[in-house]
Amino acid sequence: MTTSTEFQFTDYQPYDFANRRHIGPSPAEMDDMLKVIGYQNLDALIDATVPSSIRQQVPLTWGAAMTEREALDKLRETANKNKALVSLIGQGYYGTITPPVIQRNILENPAWYTAYTPYQPEISQGRLEALLNFQTMVCDLTGLDVANASLLDEATAAAEAMALAERVSKSKAKAFFVDEACHPQTIAVIRTRAEPLGWTVIVGNPFTDLDPVDVFGAIFQYPGTHGQIHDFSGLIARLHQTGATATVAADILALTLLKSPGDMGADIAIGSTQRFGVPVGYGGPHAAYMAVKDAIKRSMPGRLVGVSVDARGNRAYRLSLQTREQHIRREKATSNICTAQVLLAVMASMYAVFHGPKGIKAIAQQVHQKAVLMAKGLEKLGYAIEQETFFDTITVEVGHMQGLVLRAAVAEGVNLRKVGETRIGISLDERTRPATLEAVWRAFGGAFAVAEFTPDYRLPKDLLRQTDYLTHPIFHMNRAESEMTRYIRRLSDRDLALDRAMIPLGSCTMKLNATAEMLPITWPEFSEIHPFAPADQALGYKEMIDDLSEKLCSVTGYDAISIQPNSGAQGEYAGLLTIRSYHLSRGDAHRTVCLIPTSAHGTNPASAHMAGMTVVPVKARDNGDVDLDDFREKAEKYADTLSCCMVTYPSTHGVFEETVRQICEITHAHGGQVYLDGANMNAMVGLARPGDIGSDVSHLNLHKTFCIPHGGGGPGMGPIGVKAHLAAFLPGHVATDGRPGAVSAAPYGSPSILPISWSYCLMMGGEGLTQATKVAILNANYIAARLTGAYDVLYKSEAGRVAHECIIDTRPLAESSGVSVDDVAKRLIDCGFHAPTMSWPVAGTLMIEPTESETKAEIDRFCEAMLAIREEARDIEEGRMDKANNPLKNAPHTVEDLVGEWTRPYTREQACFPPGAFRVDKYWSSVNRVDNVYGDRNLVCTCPPMSEYAEAAE
Ligand SMILES: *Cc1c(COP(=O)(O)O)cnc(C)c1O
Repeated sequence: MTTSTEFQFTDYQPYDFANRRHIGPSPAEMDDMLKVIGYQNLDALIDATVPSSIRQQVPLTWGAAMTEREALDKLRETANKNKALVSLIGQGYYGTITPPVIQRNILENPAWYTAYTPYQPEISQGRLEALLNFQTMVCDLTGLDVANASLLDEATAAAEAMALAERVSKSKAKAFFVDEACHPQTIAVIRTRAEPLGWTVIVGNPFTDLDPVDVFGAIFQYPGTHGQIHDFSGLIARLHQTGATATVAADILALTLLKSPGDMGADIAIGSTQRFGVPVGYGGPHAAYMAVKDAIKRSMPGRLVGVSVDARGNRAYRLSLQTREQHIRREKATSNICTAQVLLAVMASMYAVFHGPKGIKAIAQQVHQKAVLMAKGLEKLGYAIEQETFFDTITVEVGHMQGLVLRAAVAEGVNLRKVGETRIGISLDERTRPATLEAVWRAFGGAFAVAEFTPDYRLPKDLLRQTDYLTHPIFHMNRAESEMTRYIRRLSDRDLALDRAMIPLGSCTMKLNATAEMLPITWPEFSEIHPFAPADQALGYKEMIDDLSEKLCSVTGYDAISIQPNSGAQGEYAGLLTIRSYHLSRGDAHRTVCLIPTSAHGTNPASAHMAGMTVVPVKARDNGDVDLDDFREKAEKYADTLSCCMVTYPSTHGVFEETVRQICEITHAHGGQVYLDGANMNAMVGLARPGDIGSDVSHLNLHKTFCIPHGGGGPGMGPIGVKAHLAAFLPGHVATDGRPGAVSAAPYGSPSILPISWSYCLMMGGEGLTQATKVAILNANYIAARLTGAYDVLYKSEAGRVAHECIIDTRPLAESSGVSVDDVAKRLIDCGFHAPTMSWPVAGTLMIEPTESETKAEIDRFCEAMLAIREEARDIEEGRMDKANNPLKNAPHTVEDLVGEWTRPYTREQACFPPGAFRVDKYWSSVNRVDNVYGDRNLVCTCPPMSEYAEAAE
């Protein structure tokens, strides 16, 4: 028998680890860390770091933090308010079956979803190969030469195609022709993009309304939004006669059966790869594609994966033409694409690998058969199908019956597309079952069975595809699932993602993406809702979006939120357009100047340029702060034409500048608006609010601060918050309020990943979020303290503190030992780390951001690696190690280095197991250092022939 003194009830709550889940250091570890930095407690550190002038007055409160189970219950309850009907709406979004092997092993696998953009190629070979497969797939199907590694959505890709056409076409015209058969959201986003740049958009029937002399380019939809299929070869040839550029927006699945855009002579093809296994998810995220003719590849926006060699001459992948990256081009940038849709592109490419050309063709044929059967049933009922030939979509005139039929279909559990007031559109897809066809016929008043009809073909005979696709061996692997599982596993094993090690990327906030937050995104009630489904079927989404928006307003101090932008950079663009519309509404069309500090992220000037603004750079002081005198001078000089300024807070130098309020005041005093880049909100949540500081608009990177994983370079979400006076000018959407200004194809961008951010907020509560911010600041200051002495911390506040990240200077090493910032980054790979952000915002430096999620042990492991690297450089400085042949120059070391003769002046032990590296769980880079120059000189952006694979493996 146990007495009450022997047995005590614990007050420890096993599920109540909201704060512990996301917060790395334990309370005891925090005490130790504070001692190293020299503060009594966390609040003292925060008080010394965050200027009191910007501290928020009221704490963040919105009820108690939920446990994991409570939050999941809440998400379940919310999901149940969505009704996932069978959708035959089409219009760019189609039912698709995600092969379970892809869902489980990619979409739900942290090895894939927690990876970062593959800027460090040696630790990214897996996702680079998957993206190369994607590019190869897109080139094959479109019949064009070069494809990029994804864009944000089909409508954005169309707008990018227009901008590309304007850059490369020889025509001097300033108008762009848009096929009226383009999806309405595509037309809307093109209009948004064209307007500030002063280009005219002509929408019409290309066969009757297009005069090539008038335009620099044209876009045609193939098949058209209502299902019609046309041959554009003749029109394209006419466009080329005047030097104009032709774009075809093509359905990726239809291309398996139809003549490719390349064969029609198109210069550019764009579209969505959603129906290659990526759920509709109420609009996104999905990967758009863009492919171009070889002649214009160097002008193409977005990232491009290419093939190069490593230091041993083995094949290695990398991002090609990295100098095209927007932070280098700044105001010369032609696009602001930074975060794209890597994870979704990987899924779509794996769908092609999984099914192979025969499988995909069979899927396309089945979809077409279903469409033909659907047409036959309707014809039997006396309806005339508008399209003589079609792929998956048909449209019928139903007159005053429209409402009746649509409602009857909903009662049968099916959504059809409402077209105008008298027509109905029907798009069939991979998921459509015979019972669905019969249900639709019933809604139209017919009681037939599918078996009554014989399927035949109604594709245009002269447009049938004659060329092969997906011929590369990678699309022809053995169809046993074991092969697929292992291929996916092999690729992910080549990569270093957050599931293996801290990724201390300054400004990119690589924090925990908690599993409980990820679970709901694949629930059908979230993933299977069509973006244009009737509003009453998406009440759960509405509730979530409204509540999340409210929470984001209280975090930022803004009054209204638009959830539409699909990335931070799209948020910037949307925010600047909002400012522009505001000025226009006041008759201030001449206000077009945008002040941007030279330290800004490259997307800032790129977005300003896209919004039709003139960028005026503002100097930075030696300590990294914005030069207030220069700012004031420029604001005065451009007082009459000032539109806005763009500032990042805390600054890109990782410091809370004291002068931010003054910057806002000066801007306002000269009639401008303030755009505060919110990428660094992880340093502010709960402590300071942009809206209180004097800013008018900001974007939030939900894939940084609010736990959406980076997915290897996307998805992302960049909602913008604005003050009340700007609320009326936020982006509209054809599908919701009918207002102009859409920046994304779908009204709410990529809503199916919002459950991640929302559950993060629910499980943290206001208090937990504030604690996360404090610990993010603690972790960064701890690193700065531990590395001081070995490295210079470049920027600190007057009190000697950094915000949530710190920049360390490796330039002295270059002088003393010839060790470059690149060498340090590559040596970190040997230690089992992804390098911090390199050479930004200052060349030759590393910007380290640990986030609150990292434990003291992991941070210490990183610091020990950095300190050891400093000692290795010292060995060179002091002549103990060769200047050219040393562990830093030869990094990363691979298993290849362990075999054969060893002639280096250091041991294999030193090479492969530097401080930080795990012994048993050692991360081995799959390639040695990648040759960047070689890859750019010999641009190869599709899968190399299999013979080269064999060669590389030898
Ligand atoms: C990440 C980042 C951006 C761009 O965000 P994306 O989502 O990648 O488009 C803009 N500004 C800063 C300071 C950033 O760190």
